[in-house]
Amino acid sequence: MSQHTLHNHVALVTGASRGLGLAIAKLFAQHGAKLALVARSEQALTPALEAVRQVGAEAQPFPCDLSDAETTKALPDLVLKHFGQIDILVNNAGITRDTLLLRMSDEDWQNVIDTNLRSAFLLTRAVVRPMMKARRGRIINISSVSGLIGNAGQANYAASKAALIALTKTTAREFASRGITANAIAPGFITTDMTNVLPENVTQEVLKQIPLGRFGTPDDIAHAALFLASPASAYITGQTLIVDGGLLMP
Ligand code: NAP
Repeated sequence: MSQHTLHNHVALVTGASRGLGLAIAKLFAQHGAKLALVARSEQALTPALEAVRQVGAEAQPFPCDLSDAETTKALPDLVLKHFGQIDILVNNAGITRDTLLLRMSDEDWQNVIDTNLRSAFLLTRAVVRPMMKARRGRIINISSVSGLIGNAGQANYAASKAALIALTKTTAREFASRGITANAIAPGFITTDMTNVLPENVTQEVLKQIPLGRFGTPDDIAHAALFLASPASAYITGQTLIVDGGLLMP
């Protein structure tokens, strides 16, 4: 992929303070994109901002709690005011609140759905307007293998990730004629803060089931996102790209 692949493109990446979002922001910046970086606090975004600016990319932090509908609705206008355009939306921010379904509180259910799913809907609804005007746009939703096969202890998370795939397909159908594509990525086990909390015995059990014999890296996901954001994937929409070292192979 050329260093200019995303030249003149503005990418709004949520959950850009660490993990997958940070890797995606950095790789997009290396390929010429301007970055709108989103996480809950400006302070948390400082390392991402520095990393992105280090490669010479233009970037701006947009602190926003995506579990709050009103601040989330206001976000795209702030980005548009600053950059004048949004060409790529990566709905990556996500949380887990794991527990068995019988013990899951209403609050844990709602928190995960609001953060992982509602925010993606609200941001998609807002960014498709400028994308339609520009007659181009890329929407990438970070789902999970949990959304494809379910996972004990993750009723809220798996439901949010499955629904993201349906949101992706619907977005793809509704906006294909406007030059906008929408695709999902379903990562398997990737080494980030989210998986660092897994007990060692669980990690070892999971490793045995991954044909490639390792957890993925944030860069493994970032490269998939770069492909889906680039002109190379122009004829791909409504798809879910599984990046899991061979774990599922549906
Ligand atoms: P992570 O390291 O825990 O990072 C989560 C990111 O989301 C952080 O940047 C965090 O920012 C942001 N975030 C969380 N709640 C937010 C809120 N209310 N408002 C704004 N930002 C918020 O997670 P990750 O592993 O990189 O995961 C990224 C995405 O990939 C998630 O959607 C996750 O479900 C998905 N995924 C991950 C894996 C994996 O194995 N790691 C596997 C499958 C899918 P602040 O905390 O700084 O606000």
